Amino acid sequence: MALYVKKFGGSSVATPEKMLNIANRVLRDRKPGDKIVIVVSAMGDSTDDLLDLAAKVSDVNYARERDMLLSTGEQVSIALMAMTFKKLGVPAISLTGPQAGIVAGGGYGKATIDDVKPDRVFKELEAGNIVIVAGFQGMMPNGDIATLGRGGSDATAVALAGAMHADMCEIFTDVDGVYSADPRHVTGTIKMKEITNTEMLEMARLGAGVMQPRSVELGMKYHIPIHVRSTFTDEEGTIIREVCTMETRDDTVRGVAQDAHAARIAVLGLRNIPGVAYKIFSVLAENNITVDMIVQSVRNSNDDKTDIIFTIDDADLSDAKRVLDAMRDEGKVEEVIYDDDTAKVSVVGAGMLGRPGVAARMFGALGRAGVNIDIVSTSEISISCLILRKDLDKAVQAIHCLLYTSDAADDLTR
Ligand code: ADP
Ligand code: ASP
Ligand code: MG
Repeated sequence: MALYVKKFGGSSVATPEKMLNIANRVLRDRKPGDKIVIVVSAMGDSTDDLLDLAAKVSDVNYARERDMLLSTGEQVSIALMAMTFKKLGVPAISLTGPQAGIVAGGGYGKATIDDVKPDRVFKELEAGNIVIVAGFQGMMPNGDIATLGRGGSDATAVALAGAMHADMCEIFTDVDGVYSADPRHVTGTIKMKEITNTEMLEMARLGAGVMQPRSVELGMKYHIPIHVRSTFTDEEGTIIREVCTMETRDDTVRGVAQDAHAARIAVLGLRNIPGVAYKIFSVLAENNITVDMIVQSVRNSNDDKTDIIFTIDDADLSDAKRVLDAMRDEGKVEEVIYDDDTAKVSVVGAGMLGRPGVAARMFGALGRAGVNIDIVSTSEISISCLILRKDLDKAVQAIHCLLYTSDAADDLTR
């Protein structure tokens, strides 16, 4: 007897037929006494369709109303999924995020899961139901519904699994595991049997969309292993866990991540005095805008002006424009330049720590591919380069080839 949390993403629940396949598979795999919680995303591209609808009404981000709208996508899925089980004669019940006890904090659109109170979920499991929970949503302290950021159903699943002490959290998706790079964009990618949660978090943060970054953090917090696997085949996928076996731990670089949504902002002509950077970044933080790579440029030493260049998610670009243009109009900065034709490519691997030369080799691969590097940033286990978006596929492929073709792999992982 075990408790499973199984999450199915948008492409997995895109049609009633796919829902029926999921229900049959869950019932086939269920052993007597097993308790099953299923977390689902909105069907297919319906979250994007809802965003398009909102944009047709207004280009202003009415964050509260937008969350009200977006949360309906997952509610369609839970109701249809519960009906599918019922039709097969199996007791099932759908619950919204708030009904399942998902307590959200922070702001609309990017809310965090601050607590999970799964009493109702336990009660429904005890009553013999398969419980189907809407991903991507929770209830704010003021009673409003809030969404958890794109890909947020992963976070719902891992948080529920953690709070309910589930035996396993399975993330079913349209790929059969975590690969060395996005298998839809890069050829020759290799599936990993396991990956540490630190490396997965870095891959996810740097754009590997197979797992939402916060969900990986929640897995770390609750010490819950996560199995990323295919909805459509029975193959074993990739286990994300705290420590991997020796066999899979000797790589210098584990993967290449890509983020096509990195927008670049250059704030030019700031007064070169203490506290100026603070003003800019605190205004952005107040507006719930997360800043990623940051470079402050060095001008001539007797110049009393400086420039700051940084990147943000391009979804936040219009909000950033609003606040930074206001600062420019107040004369606090001379000029602000916005670029949304940029992208970020990164290599990730805990084995890079203390081994010199990875950056040089990465830059070499980009140079040979004719890709210009704009900004570089590093963490202990990753190196990222901002490049032109049009070069992204070429860049990822070039770096991945250097990693995974035999001679080149020796070169990079030595
Ligand atoms: P779901 O709707 O099931 O949540 P997502 O689209 O969010 O699915 O995530 C699955 C996608 O993640 C894959 O289709 C793949 O293109 C992408 N992806 C990006 N990086 C990786 C990677 N390193 N390994 C596997 N998939 C990746
Ligand atoms: N439906 C939401 C999205 O498209 C949440 C999710 O799929 O995890 O981002
Ligand atoms: Mg996803």
